[in-house]
Amino acid sequence: MSQTVETEHGVRPVHHWIAGRAAPGHSGRFGPVFNPATGQQTGEVACADEQEVDAAVLAAHEAFASWRAVSLSRRTEIFFHIRNLFREHRRELAAILTAEHGKVLADAEGEVARGLEVIEYCCGLPELLKGAYSEQASTGVDVYSIRQPLGVVVGITPFNFPAMVPMWMWAPALACGNTFVLKPSEKDPSAAIRTAELLQEAGVPDGVFNVVQGDRAAVSALLAHPAVRAVSFVGSTPVARHVYEEGTRSGKRVQALGGAKNHMVVLPDADVDMAADAAVSAAYGSSGERCMAISQVVAVGNVADRLVAAIRDRVPAIRVGNGMDPTSEMGPLITREHRDRVASYIDSADAQGATVVVDGRTDAPAGDGFFLGATLVDHVTPDMDVYCDEVFGPLLGITRVAGYEDAVKLVNENPYGNGAAIFTRDGGAARRFQFEAEAGMIGVNVPIPVPVAYYSFGGWKASLFGGIHIYGPEGIAFYTRGKVVSSRWPDPASSAVDLGFPQTR
Ligand code: NAD
Repeated sequence: MSQTVETEHGVRPVHHWIAGRAAPGHSGRFGPVFNPATGQQTGEVACADEQEVDAAVLAAHEAFASWRAVSLSRRTEIFFHIRNLFREHRRELAAILTAEHGKVLADAEGEVARGLEVIEYCCGLPELLKGAYSEQASTGVDVYSIRQPLGVVVGITPFNFPAMVPMWMWAPALACGNTFVLKPSEKDPSAAIRTAELLQEAGVPDGVFNVVQGDRAAVSALLAHPAVRAVSFVGSTPVARHVYEEGTRSGKRVQALGGAKNHMVVLPDADVDMAADAAVSAAYGSSGERCMAISQVVAVGNVADRLVAAIRDRVPAIRVGNGMDPTSEMGPLITREHRDRVASYIDSADAQGATVVVDGRTDAPAGDGFFLGATLVDHVTPDMDVYCDEVFGPLLGITRVAGYEDAVKLVNENPYGNGAAIFTRDGGAARRFQFEAEAGMIGVNVPIPVPVAYYSFGGWKASLFGGIHIYGPEGIAFYTRGKVVSSRWPDPASSAVDLGFPQTR
């Protein structure tokens, strides 16, 4: 069971996790954690200061020498334990996510399942860490390459995937032999502590995985810490840019994934029902709080009226409610302030000349939860605030354009470049879109093209600073550094007879 215990007032303290145990906060600074479906405060999270960050980094630093020396076969065995434990506890983890993030249970289980795929990929770590070997590169000289871990690496993660995005980082980082400090979002911090407990149970030695809770003060201390070798960040674009600049200034390797404005281009020949189903699922799933959510449909030519009608007809069927209720399909937003901010875009869109087809405020469940119903806004133009900003809520905009070229221009002129999708029956048009669209992840009749675990995830432009994508092969490259050995052995090595069966551990 989690070591965070409820107080008599029903508010649980959420601690740090340092050197294999829960560490209550000593900074005197705490943040509230809410159940977004009820609006009630359920937790109080510690906010780390410099000393607490230093303790976590030190624990990771001390654990590094022995963790990197653990044989590949033993590390693999631990990873299989990790995989089995997370699978066994996936429903419990999902419930933790729903209680603090608000997403519905089925969606939370999907989050854990996609994270598990990254863990499974890392179970193949001996294969992933293989180098190359060239015999007789020069006479009597062999040359080979190896990949070695960096040391202490840090993950700073957003509120919207409190289990999966940390898995994108800690799984490959640990598989490669690094030790890890996670700074999760202060809005839903409990999944990080449950992760630490499960990793310990799986056999990960103390100090290899640590958690510091907190806000920008913890981030600043991590970015300045001389023992931190690399930083993976996922969050909004302004903070991603800041983390990239600060981290690289102090000589760290940094990958910083930022925000998004994902366009879904629908050509006139598309299957309108399929496109409408996809748009509704991708825009309103997880209340639009996904970096790969579709926030903007670009309707090309005469498909627009049919498509808007088909989306509008589907919206009333979406069941908005508490994510713990298995009949709910869409939960609340993360905070009251964020819900109000998203709702403010309905007014600004209306004031700036768009057509509000469905206003989610009229459909939100009663009570104190941070709910907003699915919202559809037509006739959005690129100069409107609702188009320019990452809204990050259940608000889908429709922009109407005359032709394919106009649609691609919109995608390419947008400062973000996370995902982009095209819906069409025309293979040539889809192929051209794949060639021309300036985004890191492209969907062809797939609205949320999150790559499988053996490819890498990442955007272009303001959606990624540092170039290297996360998890998959690029994740392994990020968490290791290459070394090339040139070797000459003029004399044969001594040998001895040993009839025992060769052991790996
Ligand atoms: P956020 O940028 O507010 O916070 C992310 C992390 O940075 C958190 O741990 C937070 O504590 C910390 N942080 C916040 N402000 C900071 C500051 N001023 N200085 C230092 N650290 C700070 O993001 P969020 O609201 O938690 O998450 C939503 C955002 O994340 C959206 O923009 C979404 O698109 C993005 N996101 C991107 C991806 C991706 O893969 N590109 C994935 C998920 C989420």
